[in-house]
Order: sequence, then C-alpha cells, then structure tokens
Amino acid sequence: MELITVASARQAEAIGKQVRLQGWVRTRRDSKGGFSFIELNDGSCQGNLQIVAEAALPNYETEVKKLGAGCSVTVEGEVRQSPAKGQATEVAAKSVTVHGWADAESYPLQKKGHSYEFLRTIAHLRPRTNTFGAIARLRNQVSRSIHDFFQEQGFLYVHTPIITASDCEGAGHLFKVSTLNPAQLPLQNGQVDFTKDFFHRPTFLTVSGQLEAEIFACGLGKVYTFGPTFRAENSNTSRHLAEFWMIEPEMAYFDLQDNMTLAESFLKRIIRDALDKCGEDMKFFQERVDKEILTRLQGVLNSQFLRLPYTEAVEILEKSGEKFEFPVRWGIDLQSEHERYLTEKKFGCPVILFDYPRTLKPFYMRVNDDGKTVRAMDVLVPGVGEIIGGSQREERLDILEQRMKEQGLDPAGYWWYLDLRRYGTVPHSGFGLGLERTLLFLSGMGNIRDVVPFPRVPGSAEF
Ligand code: ATP
Ligand code: MN
Repeated sequence: MELITVASARQAEAIGKQVRLQGWVRTRRDSKGGFSFIELNDGSCQGNLQIVAEAALPNYETEVKKLGAGCSVTVEGEVRQSPAKGQATEVAAKSVTVHGWADAESYPLQKKGHSYEFLRTIAHLRPRTNTFGAIARLRNQVSRSIHDFFQEQGFLYVHTPIITASDCEGAGHLFKVSTLNPAQLPLQNGQVDFTKDFFHRPTFLTVSGQLEAEIFACGLGKVYTFGPTFRAENSNTSRHLAEFWMIEPEMAYFDLQDNMTLAESFLKRIIRDALDKCGEDMKFFQERVDKEILTRLQGVLNSQFLRLPYTEAVEILEKSGEKFEFPVRWGIDLQSEHERYLTEKKFGCPVILFDYPRTLKPFYMRVNDDGKTVRAMDVLVPGVGEIIGGSQREERLDILEQRMKEQGLDPAGYWWYLDLRRYGTVPHSGFGLGLERTLLFLSGMGNIRDVVPFPRVPGSAEF
C-alpha cells in the first residue's frame, strides 16, 4: 500500500496500484446503485480525485454517507481507469477512515462561490479553496524559479536583516521596532530617549535589503536577497501590502543596461516556468479569473521589453490625448494610470522606463551627466503597472555625499555605506521585484490581498 498524492493518483500510470490517500472531502454524492462518490483533494493539484465507496464498506452507513465538504479522511484502495469523462482515473475504496468531521451547518466552505472579500475574513480556511490552492502552488513555483534562475547564474543568496537602523528610501514609511513601554517612555529634553531602547537607537522593520545587499555585492560580485519587507504606507490600494516579499539582486560591475537585460530575462524565466510547471493552475486562472491571462503572458514572453527614457515617456503621455486623473508634466512621479497607459495601450508590451528626474529618486541612484536625471529604471507590465524598481548605484563618493545632504540625510549615519565607495568602489546595479505583484501579473488576480497567505494591510492583521 503506497502513500501517494491526488496528483499522482490522477495520472493514468497509477492504474492498477494499491494506494493510500490523505486529504479533505470536497463533495460527496450518493448513487442510486448503493454506493457513493467522494471528491477528494489534498492540495497536490487543482483537480480532485474521485473515490468510489461501495455500500459494502463496514462504515458505509455510519460514516461514509455522512461525509461532506471539509471532512478529513484516509482512503485505501485500488486506482482504476475511470469511466467518467474528464478524469483518467478513480479509486475504488477498500477502506475510508475519517479523521475529522466538519459540521455542514457551520462550515463556511460548505457552499461554493464565495467572494474574495469574504474569503479574506476566513484566511485560515481559504487555502482549501481552488483559487487559493492554485495561488499557493504558483507562489511556491515562482519562489523556486527565483532561486533556480540566480543559482544557475552564480549569484549568492544572502540574508539581509529584518531589523535595521537605516531607512533605505529616505521616506517615512517605516514600522518602528522598540521594546520601550509606550505608556512610560524615557524622555530627554521632551524627546524619546532611544538610548534606553533595546538597540540603544531607533530601529525599524526593513523596507528593502538593498543597502546590505550592496555590501555583499561589493566584495562577492553577484548576490540576491529574497525575504520579507515592510512598508507602513497607509495606502489602501489593490497593489500595496504592509508586509510583502521582495527579491533584490545586486551585481558588481553591472551598468543600467546590464540591469535591464537581467530583469527581462528574470521575468521571462518566471513566466516560462509558471506556464510549464503550473499548467493546470494557469488554466484555472484563465478560465475563472482572467480570460486574457495566457495570451498576455505568451505575448510578454515573445516580446522584447521596450526601453524608454522617462523624458520621452512624459512627452508621449502629454501628447496622448488621454484624460488622466493626475495631469502629466516633466518632474512628476508617474501614477499607475500613466504606467498602465504606456504598457497596455500605447505599446502593448512591458516597458522599462529609465533616467528619472533626480528629485524623484533616492540618494543612492547614479546621477547622469545631464545633472537632472538619475540612472533609475522601473519595469512596467500589462495588467499590473510597476513590478520592478531598480537603478545603477552611485559609486562616486563625493557625489553620493552631496546627494545625501541634498535629501536631508546625515552622511555620518551611513559611514559604512560610504566606505564601500571609499575602498575599491565599483560600478554596480540592482533592482527589487515584488513577489506579490509578480503573482498578480501571473494569475490575473485583481487584489494583492488575495495572492499572499496572510495579508497585512492598514487595520487588518488577524491571522
Ligand atoms: P509603488 O510606486 O508601486 O508604491 P515603489 O516605487 O515604492 O512602488 P520600490 O521601492 O521600487 O517600489 O520597490 C520595488 C518593488 O517592490 C516594486 O516594484 C513592487 O513590485 C514592490 N512593492 C513596493 N511596494 C510594495 C507594497 N507596498 N506592496 C507590495 N509590493 C510592493
Ligand atoms: Mn511605494
């Protein structure tokens, strides 16, 4: 008796095998002929396995006929060819052992067709639904592709800290980390005295592992991080989470063009693997979530990403004749509506915007010879908009210091970052890809809260 998954038992090669399966009942249906069909799912694939349970089973009347959605079972039996359409196999049960009942009256997944909004309120049960099973498997595959891609190219995986004293973006979107008692803060001249705090200084949850990744790249060559990042942005959008996962490669001796080339082949690899290795789930997204998804992804695979300077993009947007909510002029941060116009309407392929106004971007991006722009790049994709943000880093000590002051940062606090420029500085580049934005892009799902196991957004962190 071999313990196998539903995914294996659904394959024709399994026919004739004596197997044991463990999973959750999706539905039970009784036939007039005195036996029952149980649809079993164990998370190994989208499809269910049909179990045929005969009335001769000793617990047929007492248990099998009471099974319903959500009950957990072990089934032993023989895999045989299924006479039914749409499935190669079924299992003739020799025994059905019930582990846990799920009361049909109160089990929330008894009924099908719940809204994604409702499912968010039962995040502890939604992995048992088709959509979230598919998302979980896709997320797993994407994570694997990320490691495969970089490992095959000799990148080193580095773990950057989650608690940090530096604010990579110079923005205010930080969660504070503290063990001080908010009801009894130690004060010094009316200000909180952080020297009394756990780390003897203010600390935060990281918004990016970039600065630390640069440390490793400037010594070990090509590295990447892949871990959680946190942003206390109070933006209740369908594209932002307070806790999300980011992949950040950082490469010594890469210029911005090299960076773009890497980003393009990286995204294409992730898409190709998703289509090859999550075929059944991708088909599900196509049928149930977004009718365009497979053509869109295939289109991206076959396209060459368009590289467009910010300044030209602004000209195109100004001349577009589109009514944008936020009017466009040189120097503004492009909004999602502008990004999506470019990638979806104007070009119909991914667009890499680069050379942004220096005033828009953080201190570490390399200043161009024009003095007005920096070597930043954003990758925009149809369906989502910005999916990657990156840049060539400023490797010149004097200019970097000047940029810090320009943005109101104290270079002294970044002495270690400046040391990288003081000793053996190299041109280098990197970018950040948001894992959840990637999953939106691949699945066609509309809300980022539905592609992360436990969404962290303003006002919500229950599970
Ligand atoms: P946006 O303008 O969309 O807020 P950003 O410019 O703040 O993004 P970066 O700091 O460049 O983003 O971060 C790199 C990538 O991380 C983004 O391209 C995106 O894929 C992802 N990302 C950024 N912020 C979030 C967030 N709050 N939730 C989920 N993913 C995010
Ligand atoms: Mn942001």
